Amino acid sequence: MPRVAIIGGGPAGLMAAEQMVATTETTAGPRVDGLEAVIFDAMPSFGRKFLMAGKGGMNITHAEPLPDFIGRYGERQEVLGPLLESFGPQALRQWIAGLGITTFVGSSGRVFPAEMKAAPLLRAWLHRLRGLGVHFHVRHRWLGWATDGALRFATPAGEIQFAADAVILALGGGSWAKLGSDGAWAPLLRERGVSVAPLKPANCGFDVGWSAHFSTRFAGQPVKPVIGSAGGRRLPGEFTITAGGIEGGLVYALAAPLRDALGRDGSSELHLDLAPGRTLARLRADLARPRGHDSLANHLRRRAGIEGVKAGLLREFLPISMLTAPDRLAEAIKDFRLPVKAPRPIDEAISTAGGVRFEGMDEQLMLQNLPGVFCAGEMLDWEAPTGGYLLTACLTTGRVAGLGARAWLAGKS
Ligand SMILES: Cc1cc2nc3c(=O)[nH]c(=O)nc-3n(C[C@H](O)[C@H](O)[C@H](O)COP(=O)(O)OP(=O)(O)OC[C@H]3O[C@@H](n4cnc5c(N)ncnc54)[C@H](O)[C@@H]3O)c2cc1C
Repeated sequence: MPRVAIIGGGPAGLMAAEQMVATTETTAGPRVDGLEAVIFDAMPSFGRKFLMAGKGGMNITHAEPLPDFIGRYGERQEVLGPLLESFGPQALRQWIAGLGITTFVGSSGRVFPAEMKAAPLLRAWLHRLRGLGVHFHVRHRWLGWATDGALRFATPAGEIQFAADAVILALGGGSWAKLGSDGAWAPLLRERGVSVAPLKPANCGFDVGWSAHFSTRFAGQPVKPVIGSAGGRRLPGEFTITAGGIEGGLVYALAAPLRDALGRDGSSELHLDLAPGRTLARLRADLARPRGHDSLANHLRRRAGIEGVKAGLLREFLPISMLTAPDRLAEAIKDFRLPVKAPRPIDEAISTAGGVRFEGMDEQLMLQNLPGVFCAGEMLDWEAPTGGYLLTACLTTGRVAGLGARAWLAGKS
């Protein structure tokens, strides 16, 4: 009886497993008679990061037009585009509906499951997979391959080996290790000649290194509204001051160019328009009006609408000679340059860039160096902003790898 091992029980692995046991020819290609699908995870339960993604409101995909959607994958849009054309946001919503969960489009175009939670979806999905005959093993940490090619797992009862005819790796990225995905798979694959791009934080915060005074006063405060730009991207939004740096939606959206500039040039600046509602000309004119007995803080508030943390940022970085020169101050408010020192550690990031390179895989996501071994999900070398793009690509690549493994086994039998 052919056996397929799926390692990693996050959204990518579960979607891959579903393809192995799906009963209809139309959704999963030719059936493989007697195929046994076994899914392993190192953690005591499946889908822990998926559940965490559901905590603040699970954003599972996005309703924008498909070409725009595909464009969010940046350098990887060419390779992910065809996969998303065959199973994209719309198909994903239908698939969720098949689990008895409705989805809705939020005001920003983001798509959420009803109640915005992941738990009901995961529950229904695991129930369906069990019903279709998938075997589940928790607390099985994959350790690599034995000399005879069997898979090695550390389990509470000691090491075991499992011989599989095909393997799907869906081991996640390298962030939030306590939820299971720790990136420990990277050296195991490199040892086997698989090309793996270094794992890097994506959708992450950055260290700035505030003065003690600024940090004590403003940590936890939002900076809004602003327009941020980096690497040619310009976005309205907001972010939050942390004890040592910055985090939040706008920072995550611009994290890739900020991180890449640090890696390339050793320095990086987040450009901010701190007064998005006012033109430079107006700011110049208003700030040039006589200050009289007004303090600088009052003058900034009355003439430029700048106060609180925004005023704090100006004081933190600008010399007094600039703060008192209306023209230069107006320019600094419209193009404030916030130097960032380093991305926050990968474990804190929402997602991971880098991973198994597409160049070393075929179109079914099978590793050229390891025939019969497929990869899916965040462990692949792509990155995308938050907004449902992460989960969509994990589910889509899980589906492709599952279908690929099934077709590969069908070809062998
Ligand atoms: C706080 C937070 C919020 C998020 N919110 C969103 C959101 O709203 N929308 C969105 O699109 N994305 C979101 N994401 C990202 C999304 O959750 C991930 O991209 C997605 O879960 C990745 O799926 P995956 O199946 O590739 O990997 P994972 O979900 O990480 O699953 C990998 C699995 O592999 C297992 N594993 C790892 N190594 C081994 C091993 N050696 N042996 C056995 N098992 C192993 C792990 O235990 C884990 O269960 C969020 C992430 C975080 C951290």
